[in-house]
Amino acid sequence: MTEPRSRFDIVVVGAGPAGLAAACAAAEKGKRVAVVDDAPSPGGQIWKGEQSRLSIPQAQKWIERFRRSGATLLDRTAVIAAPEPGVLLAEHPEGAREIEWSKLIIATGARELFLPFPGWTLPGVMGPGGLQALVKGGWPIAGKRVVICGTGPLLLAVADGLKKQGATIAMIAEQAPMSRVAGFGFKTLRHPGKLVQGMGIFARLRGVPYRCGVWPVQANGGEQVNSVTLADGSNQWTEKCDLLACGFHLVPNVELPLAMGCELAGGCVRVDANQLTTVPDVYCSGEPTGIGGVDCALTEGQIAGYSAAGSDDQAAALSNERAGWHAFRLAMSNAFALREELKSLANPETTFCRCEDVAFGRVKAASGWREAKLLTRCGMGACQGRTCGAAAKFILGWGMESVRPPLLPARVGNLTRTNR
Ligand SMILES: Cc1cc2nc3c(=O)[nH]c(=O)nc-3n(C[C@H](O)[C@H](O)[C@H](O)COP(=O)(O)OP(=O)(O)OC[C@H]3O[C@@H](n4cnc5c(N)ncnc54)[C@H](O)[C@@H]3O)c2cc1C
Repeated sequence: MTEPRSRFDIVVVGAGPAGLAAACAAAEKGKRVAVVDDAPSPGGQIWKGEQSRLSIPQAQKWIERFRRSGATLLDRTAVIAAPEPGVLLAEHPEGAREIEWSKLIIATGARELFLPFPGWTLPGVMGPGGLQALVKGGWPIAGKRVVICGTGPLLLAVADGLKKQGATIAMIAEQAPMSRVAGFGFKTLRHPGKLVQGMGIFARLRGVPYRCGVWPVQANGGEQVNSVTLADGSNQWTEKCDLLACGFHLVPNVELPLAMGCELAGGCVRVDANQLTTVPDVYCSGEPTGIGGVDCALTEGQIAGYSAAGSDDQAAALSNERAGWHAFRLAMSNAFALREELKSLANPETTFCRCEDVAFGRVKAASGWREAKLLTRCGMGACQGRTCGAAAKFILGWGMESVRPPLLPARVGNLTRTNR
């Protein structure tokens, strides 16, 4: 994008599955559509790099449909503020951009949830999704011994991907008890595609220990992680590793909806049957409305796109499909609910806010998130509380449902445009 100010009928923020599906649905109805994403290519988290690799048929299908739809991709463009109704302020490597919209579809996805425990900031400890992204980008993993822990189906998907690239998966430690994970597996019988996918992953991971009801209590090492101490409530033991991939499922990216005044329900964006938020002309689809996986994101995205384009009948025709994915979403959320023990992994010296180097003891002494920020600078660094804020919500029960610009780290010169 070269123009500093541009105007579209429908602007979609996020070029993951939800955003691509929304853009296709709306652009195929003849609307002038733009999709804004801070990444260099479309695909979001799950299809990162698929534009050139073309290894996932579902990704190929949607990226190709998007190319043919006539929608414009504004890549490497991060939305940093919503300075006035109908306008987004974005940052592009060449400078600030203002993007005007008549209808807005927010499809900003989710990020990994990290919970602090002693050693979690050691080099070599990272999120499973983050490690997967590094490896997809060409980072050599062959011959490395990896322990994967935390919770959710992503642990298995990442283990599968890393193993294919030659890593040795020493163990997958899932914090949810076996009874709940098995119950979730049983519920996927209603979704044959997911069942086949899951069975394929388990078959390829044959021989890899998958332990349920197990969680990390400490990452050990000097310059680099070399082992992790795991617990199951009765015993603790240590597994050697070169890398520790640890993540506790996903947190919806609701900063932009919050900045626009959209209401949340249970930490997710509240939407109606058309995926319309509580703010007129602002729609939301995919992970910000609840962590439901790629198929849920695609269905919600299409509904938002058709609704925003005025094709309510086509949107309504997808409501049964969405109901099925919402049942899957609920089953996943129940199965992988976080156990209470994870609230007490950090000790007072454990780093809690890694951007500002604030220990858990100092944060915990505050009466709430606002006081913690003011007194300790917790959540005031580069990630703006995306990591520690989500951890504080789970561990300390603190709400933080308001945001200020910039929504993502931005250059001061670009931000001054918000003060017109
Ligand atoms: C790190 C990670 C790895 C994952 N890996 C897998 C996997 O291997 N297999 C699997 O089944 N599921 C995976 N998931 C889950 C998967 O992302 C979801 O199930 C689903 O694909 C979500 O689709 P979405 O369109 O809602 O969001 P996403 O795919 O997350 O797309 C959201 C897009 O919005 C963009 N965005 C966000 N905020 C802004 C902003 N302010 N300005 C501009 N752009 C913005 C992001 O860059 C991203 O491209 C992963 C999730 C994460 C967080």
